[in-house]
Amino acid sequence: MRCSFISDLHLDSTTPTRIAAFQRFISSEAERADEIYVLGDLTETWVGDDDDSAFAALLREALESVAKRCRLHLMHGNRDFLIGEHFASAAGLHLVEDPYVIERNGVRLLLSHGDAFCTDDVEYQKLRATLRSKDWQDRVLTMTLSERRALADSMRAQSRATNANKPSNIMDADGDAIASALRFHNADAVVHGHTHRPGISIVRTADRDRFRYVLGDWDRCGWVLRFADDFNLLRFPLAGHYEI
Ligand code: MN
Repeated sequence: MRCSFISDLHLDSTTPTRIAAFQRFISSEAERADEIYVLGDLTETWVGDDDDSAFAALLREALESVAKRCRLHLMHGNRDFLIGEHFASAAGLHLVEDPYVIERNGVRLLLSHGDAFCTDDVEYQKLRATLRSKDWQDRVLTMTLSERRALADSMRAQSRATNANKPSNIMDADGDAIASALRFHNADAVVHGHTHRPGISIVRTADRDRFRYVLGDWDRCGWVLRFADDFNLLRFPLAGHYEI
């Protein structure tokens, strides 16, 4: 089984280069992978599946065009958590919970967006609990599209202002939280994004060593973790041909 993992693309209508890179990536990667997992923050915001923007239509088309060849999974991040079953089924996406455990090629993998591991950021975890609650989401989805767009803009501005004043180590995933999640799920490795700190590390737990693969955000370049017999964390330029 060949699996590819990506996260933190933060696509929106203001990022045409990134959208084009994603279109090239998905059509090419779908040829070589059996399944692709998007581990959150595919989009910078999502105001609801009734979004009638050209961007939402473009995204649906890009996904739908490859969904028959390759199984596509989407886990919500802290930005795109309002992507619902309606959009998912139209785009051929299979929504998965966070955390999500899979076993492929004899390896047990714990998949997560990663924000739940940022346990030092107590204020953020409180906000996360609210935003992920069915109550809050149901209430927001009764608002008109333009009200939701305004809300998304103000929440982004608020988040930028709040994060600018936080020491960066607080916003990183906590090593103990990662180790205990790996043990709890009896996983050999964890794959997550969110922190925008791509890399590979060993997680030493009492019984054995496990592995941590952190995906990068698609800002200065794109990132993909490929897994078949081995793991390969790769980066590629966002402009031009996708070939890695
Ligand atoms: Mn995130």
